[in-house]
Amino acid sequence: MVKCPYCGRPAMSLMRKSGFGPGRIINCQSCGEPVTTHSMGVFAAIPAFLGGLFALRSGSLPFGIAAVVAGVVAMGLIQTFLVPLVRSKT
Ligand SMILES: [Zn+2]
Repeated sequence: MVKCPYCGRPAMSLMRKSGFGPGRIINCQSCGEPVTTHSMGVFAAIPAFLGGLFALRSGSLPFGIAAVVAGVVAMGLIQTFLVPLVRSKT
């Protein structure tokens, strides 16, 4: 899922992609063309949002923190493995 939509080679490392949020543009490390994440990347934030919501409502600090951490981890995993890279030029 880090395959460049232009050249088909890896555009960035998985570590780098995990922190690569929607709306950001990065240059492929293989060919230098600008790539961005698919707009479905915004949905990756849903688990983090739900985790925060649960934390507010749970009333228990340890459970709340665990929910937020789980949500953020889930967001990173979705962002890294499920959201494809697309061409930023149209
Ligand atoms: Zn490329």
